[in-house]
Amino acid sequence: MTEFCGLPLTIRKNPRARRVLVKLIPGRGLEVVVPRRFDTDLVPEILNEKRAWIERTRIRMEESGVDLSGRLPDLPEIISFRAAGREYQVDYLDRPGRVKLTENASRLMVCGPMDEPVFILEVLRKFTASKAREALLPLLDAMSRRLGMDYTAMRVRRQKTRWGSCSARGTISLNAKLLFLPVELVNQLLLHELCHTRQLNHSAKYWALVARHEPDFARLEDGLKHGGRFVPPWFS
Ligand SMILES: [Zn+2]
Repeated sequence: MTEFCGLPLTIRKNPRARRVLVKLIPGRGLEVVVPRRFDTDLVPEILNEKRAWIERTRIRMEESGVDLSGRLPDLPEIISFRAAGREYQVDYLDRPGRVKLTENASRLMVCGPMDEPVFILEVLRKFTASKAREALLPLLDAMSRRLGMDYTAMRVRRQKTRWGSCSARGTISLNAKLLFLPVELVNQLLLHELCHTRQLNHSAKYWALVARHEPDFARLEDGLKHGGRFVPPWFS
């Protein structure tokens, strides 16, 4: 059995596992972890029992842009950083050795071993994360000034699920994926997190504060919920 419900299936033995674990893993598909002495012939039955959960989780993950096909995503020809209003055309040059990326106006040149796309993708992802930092900081500063709400620090990370968060100390963490989103959705996220510096909850009082600064917040929050569709597979 190498597939279940159209998802690639891996069965892994883990001597420390005490029971069977079924997981959906981004980029890999379905993974079943079993204790060392477990009879793997029983796996299909377990998966059948969990079929409804698997389908539900799969839909939820795919809707937020997670790839479960287990295939490596194609290398992008165009990269569109919507939040920064920038678009790059990407050219590739097959060359052995370390991957090198050079930026020249709206063109990117990536030199490296094309038969090792994992390394190429990693370099593109790092480039994206640093561009995200560059683009998100001025947007956050502008929003902070507009609202008159201060934050302590900004962090940009590659996160799987959340777009952002705000700590009790006023540190705002932003997902690098925001760079692919339209700027109005990014601004809504920044407003959302900055309002948490006043109200660290989602109470009625909190939403009233949000509404005061953005009357159209419900539509924009909904847009964020489905924002995964703007994130290309190679960065998911
Ligand atoms: Zn929140």
